[in-house]
Amino acid sequence: MAQMGPISRRDTLQGIGAVGAAGLLNSVGAAPAAASEKKPRGISGKTRANPAVVEKVFQTPLIDTHEHLIEEKDRLAGAAHRRARTDDWSLLLNHYLDSDLAVAGMSGDTYDRFFSPETDPVDKWKLLEPYWPAVKNTGYGQAVRIAMRRLYDVDDLSAATVKKVQAGYEKTRQAGFYRRILCDMARIESCQVNYLGAPFGESDMPTLLMQDISIVGMFNGPDLDGFGKPTGIEVHSLSDWYGVMDWWFEKYGKYAVAVKSQDAYHRDIDYEQVPAEKVEGIFKKRLADEPLTDEEQKSLEDHLFWQAVQKATEHNLPVKLHTGYYAGHNYMPLGRLLHNAGSVTDLCRAAPDTRFVFMHICYPYYEELLAAAKHYANAYVDMCWAWIINPVAAKDFLKKFLVTAPANKILTFGGDYIPVEPVLGHATIARQGIALALSELVEEGWLSQADAMDLIDPIMHGNARSIFNLAEKTRVLQNAPWA
Ligand SMILES: [Zn+2]
Repeated sequence: MAQMGPISRRDTLQGIGAVGAAGLLNSVGAAPAAASEKKPRGISGKTRANPAVVEKVFQTPLIDTHEHLIEEKDRLAGAAHRRARTDDWSLLLNHYLDSDLAVAGMSGDTYDRFFSPETDPVDKWKLLEPYWPAVKNTGYGQAVRIAMRRLYDVDDLSAATVKKVQAGYEKTRQAGFYRRILCDMARIESCQVNYLGAPFGESDMPTLLMQDISIVGMFNGPDLDGFGKPTGIEVHSLSDWYGVMDWWFEKYGKYAVAVKSQDAYHRDIDYEQVPAEKVEGIFKKRLADEPLTDEEQKSLEDHLFWQAVQKATEHNLPVKLHTGYYAGHNYMPLGRLLHNAGSVTDLCRAAPDTRFVFMHICYPYYEELLAAAKHYANAYVDMCWAWIINPVAAKDFLKKFLVTAPANKILTFGGDYIPVEPVLGHATIARQGIALALSELVEEGWLSQADAMDLIDPIMHGNARSIFNLAEKTRVLQNAPWA
C-alpha cells in the first residue's frame, strides 16, 4: 500500500471543475474550481449529490484493478517505446480519445500528423481544432480535460492555451511523476497492470504497479515464440506446451494478482471443455504450420483456455476476462458481443471453483452482466474502463448493482490506460459517478445514508484487497528478485 498525503478540497475541485457546469461539486453549490474554500456551501436544491457521500468518496483511496501502463522509465525515455508513439501533450489523447477523433471525421493523414513526434507540439492544435468541440465532452474527452486541468492548470485546450499545455506536459513528465499522479493526486493505493508486450511485467515499482499474467497467448494462436522462447523448453507436443504454461505460473504465479485475457476481441468467450485427445493432432498441425480449419482452431483454443484457467485456479489467481465493447474504431461486430453475457454464465457453471472477473461491464449489455453477477457465486464484475466509455451508463450500472447483487462482487475502478496522465481524469470521473450513484440511491429511498456511507470503502478498495489477496501479494512483491 502506497503512502498518501491528505487530499485538499482544492485538489478535488480542480479535478471536478474541468467538467464545467456539469461538475459535481459545482452542482452541489461548492466553490468554483479556482477558489480554495475549505467547505462546500451546501446543496443547491437542483442536484441529487449528497455532500457527506461526495466528501467521503473523494477522500477514499481507490484500488485501480486494471491498467496497461508502461514503466515510468520507458516514458522518461521519450518516444522510443512502441506504446508511446510521441512525447508531447498529444500523447494524452492517443489512448482512447484518438478513436473518438477518427469517428468524428479526422482523416488518417491528419491523425498521423497529429500523433507524429515530428510535428511541432504547438502546431498540433490546428489539426485538432475542427474536431475538438465534437469530442471534448465524451468520457474519453473529459478524462483528458480533467488531467490537463489538474496537471497543467489549464481550463481548456485552445489556441490560447496550447503552449501552456505543452510546457505543463514537459514539466510533469519527470522522474517520480507516476507516484505523484497516481498516489498523491488520484489517491490510488495500487494498480493492476496488464503489461502489453510480455506475458508478465517485472515492474520497477512492483507494489504500486502490480501485474497480471497475460494468458491470452497461451491459447490464442497459441503464441509459440512469445511464451515458448523465454522458457527454453522445446515444444514438440501438447504436453510440452503444458510445460511452457506451467513455467510461467511457476515463475510468476505468486507475484501476479490475477490472470487476464482479452481474447473476446476476436471471438466470443464460449470456451468448451475439449479433451486433450481431440486436440493433440491439431496442436501438431499448428507446430508444423499447417493450416487449421475454423473448427480445429476453436477446439485448440478452447482446450488450452481451460488448461490455463485450471492453472490459474491452482495458483489461487482470479481469471479476468474482457467482455463487451472494443477499443479502437470501425471494426466492432456488436452481434458477437451480444453473446458474451450468456457465455459468462456457461463459464461460471463449468468452473465453479474459479473466480471470474468480468471486465468493462460487458458494455452495452450491462443489465445481462448484472444478472450473471447476482446468480453466480464465482462471477465478479470490474467496472474498469466503463466510466469513460459511457459515464452515465456506468453510474446506472453501479446504482443497479448495489441493490441487485452482493456488494462484495463489484470492483469500481480501473483506468485502463497506457499513458499515466489521463488515469487522473478517469479516477475523478469514477469518483463523481460513484458519489452520484450512492447519492441518488439515498435520495430515491433505496438506501439509508448510513448504508450508502458504509458501502464506500468496500467498493472503492476493500473488495479488491480481498478478491486479489493484496496484503499477501504486497509482502511477496517487496521481496521480488527485480524489486
Ligand atoms: Zn484493458
